[in-house]
Amino acid sequence: MLNFRLLCSLGAAALLSSFALPPTTPPRYDLVINHVTLIDVVSGQLRPNQVVAVTQGKIVRVGPAGQGSYPAKQQLDGTGRYLMPGLWDMHVHFRGGDTLIAANKKSLALYLAHGITTVRDAGGDMTPSIFQWRREEAAGTLAGPRIFTSGPKIDGPGATWPGSLEVETPAQVSKALDSLQHLKVDYVKIYDSKISGAAYLSTITQAEQRGMKTTGHMPYSVTLGEAIARGLDATEHLYYVFKACSSKEDSLTALVQASLKTTKPLGLFALLPAVYDTYSPATATRIFQQMAAHHTAAVPTLAIGTTLASLATNDHAHDTLRAYIDPKIQRTYTRRLASARQQSPTAQAFTKKLEVKFMTLIPQMQAAGVTILAGSDSGPFNSFTYPGASLQEELLLLVQAGLTPAQALRAATINGAQFMGVAARTGTIAVGKDADLLLLSANPLANIANVKKIDAVVSRGKAYSASALAALLRSIKNR
Ligand SMILES: [Zn+2]
Repeated sequence: MLNFRLLCSLGAAALLSSFALPPTTPPRYDLVINHVTLIDVVSGQLRPNQVVAVTQGKIVRVGPAGQGSYPAKQQLDGTGRYLMPGLWDMHVHFRGGDTLIAANKKSLALYLAHGITTVRDAGGDMTPSIFQWRREEAAGTLAGPRIFTSGPKIDGPGATWPGSLEVETPAQVSKALDSLQHLKVDYVKIYDSKISGAAYLSTITQAEQRGMKTTGHMPYSVTLGEAIARGLDATEHLYYVFKACSSKEDSLTALVQASLKTTKPLGLFALLPAVYDTYSPATATRIFQQMAAHHTAAVPTLAIGTTLASLATNDHAHDTLRAYIDPKIQRTYTRRLASARQQSPTAQAFTKKLEVKFMTLIPQMQAAGVTILAGSDSGPFNSFTYPGASLQEELLLLVQAGLTPAQALRAATINGAQFMGVAARTGTIAVGKDADLLLLSANPLANIANVKKIDAVVSRGKAYSASALAALLRSIKNR
């Protein structure tokens, strides 16, 4: 009886509550993009006539566009337009000392205006500022891409880049990693200006034990295979991959090791011609398979390579983007320019030849299953490699090298998210994911250059129309 009464009252309550419900009001979204063609970067497929709704910085609805309306504070008409995840630039720098902090901060607008909603800082000397910018971005007071950072680079005693943590012994490596963990950096970046092979490998091993990711350059006294076996997560630029493609890698490495005990130690550039001449397709295939098996990603940075290879001969005086690069940063461009002009014609010709060779490695790595990450290396000192535009250029070069547009887009979206361990939260267009989006007026799968045809950028759920992006650029323009 009791049960019956309980059931009755429950039923009555349910009945009452269903009558008590107000007439269904459709939810009010922050942003709706309707009738848009979605780009699924994972499958490389298009999904026409979709609706995407955003609330509180997250994607809350993705599906076929119905006839109904979707009340929202802001609507973007997606008709004839293409929506993809915001781009990731997986290799940038914020650096140059305290006097350049404000100049570096302005580059955040450049990234966003070019559709880049996330960057990975690959080491510098303004880590506290980067964390401050991240707080301002999260609070909504600063427009810019999300930033992952390595904090200061790890290198050897007398390191080239200011602010580097200089290590020689395993104890020093441990102390350096302590300080990086204290800073709460996102990964460890190793540079190779002065670090010994032993300290380099020790850094990878100790970081691995602490569950920290490592990426880097590599001393030529070490083989890439050794670094991969220790747990290196990504190899930056293609010099180190290229050395591992030499059929004589072991003897060339021994040559470098022997030279370190002499007054004339052999560096990377001294050895590159020999590496070039002993390139072996079979050795290349083996190292690419090893990289794929150990999940060691590659960050080719083709765009800066191309720019630097023709630095001595190309005139950048009239580059339109210079108007948005702070004069203080432009002054840092002279260092690489001077060294390029000092190169002999033979050396300049070799640099160009090398860049062509590097391009041929890209489709082979892709075919072997190596994760490719699109990175520009833009930032102070990296002459005429402009934030934002250089990542677009990187995508064009990856396709020119032989990737499909879909593979190139993956290298600049989901691959970055997977690499940083946040693919559940971002990197594709799906319900629950961060609303970091790029709306294009033409299909980038048909022509990768269409990534430049930006109609709007959505960052943390906030939409920036083309005119809002133009205003953002005007705000950082040099006077
Ligand atoms: Zn770099």
